[in-house]
Amino acid sequence: RAKEKGRNSFAFYCRDMHKTQQMRLEISNALRQALENREFELHYQPKLNLHTGRISSAEALIRWQHPEKGMIAPGFFIPLAEEYGLIVDIGAWVIDESCRQISQWRAEGMAPLRVSVNLSAGQCRRDDIYTRVMKTLSLYGVESKYLELEVTESMVLHDPEQALQVFRALSDDGVQIAIDDFGTGYSSFSYLRRFPSKALKIDKSFVDGLADDIGNLEIIRAIVSVAHNLGMRVVAEGVETIEQFDLLRDNGCDYIQGYIISRPVRASEIAGFIVESERRLWNKGV
Ligand code: C2E
Ligand code: MG
Ligand code: MG
Ligand code: MG
Repeated sequence: RAKEKGRNSFAFYCRDMHKTQQMRLEISNALRQALENREFELHYQPKLNLHTGRISSAEALIRWQHPEKGMIAPGFFIPLAEEYGLIVDIGAWVIDESCRQISQWRAEGMAPLRVSVNLSAGQCRRDDIYTRVMKTLSLYGVESKYLELEVTESMVLHDPEQALQVFRALSDDGVQIAIDDFGTGYSSFSYLRRFPSKALKIDKSFVDGLADDIGNLEIIRAIVSVAHNLGMRVVAEGVETIEQFDLLRDNGCDYIQGYIISRPVRASEIAGFIVESERRLWNKGV
């Protein structure tokens, strides 16, 4: 009986493995197709500058508009793209599309908006990210200060010294660097001090517990203090409530990003959104 059971679970195991492998193959083909068929799209989430009360930057967030399955979130397909070796091509598309959009907004007469692009570890390891970025900026005639790269702590773990070099070169040429999801990784203060980032994004997990957990407030105060001492701006991400907003503003955050300001929106909606929201915030006295 035991033997039979063992054999059965082995058969199940094989069938599952086969299914998983087949599914992986299908998804990786679908991702390739998606690039060719232009099924990816960038949405933009505004960041509010608390010092000026204006929206002068936005984060580009990729979406996959699948012809049958509808909108697929990056949390699902970016890790797969990384695993299947497609992240360099998808990442290159994101950089290209962001720069193209910046130049289009300018052509439409919109006030300049800095766009932040998320990077994956694989793009630093397997792509010449410096050349990629500089070439794309010049292709669209975009000034480097209008592009920001969001890098996570875990991204640079693989080869911190190489990462330092690449990001320093980009930063020397005017490209902004931000540390994303700060507080969830393992970077040391000494590395942080040497890293050429101009902004630090406090991870949503600290923002979430803010109103009811005094510990989180202390962490945020500490992060703000270190960041400011190192000459970095602080962005709070995932801000959803007015309580969180007030606490973050009163404790020194420089930028607010989150559903309380706006969800990520289509490129075509952003100009209207900015005009409308600045009027609204102005009236509220923010
Ligand atoms: P992230 O860079 O930390 O982006 C923040 C995520 O939080 C986004 O999810 C955003 O839509 C969401 N968010 C913003 N404000 C709020 C809020 O107030 N409440 C809640 N609940 N969520 C909020 P999204 O767009 O699903 O992206 C998830 C992650 O996927 C990103 O995290 C980033 O790591 C990755 N990603 C997105 N676009 C790209 C890309 O073009 N390239 C790469 N390599 N990764 C990307
Ligand atoms: Mg980000
Ligand atoms: Mg983040
Ligand atoms: Mg995050």
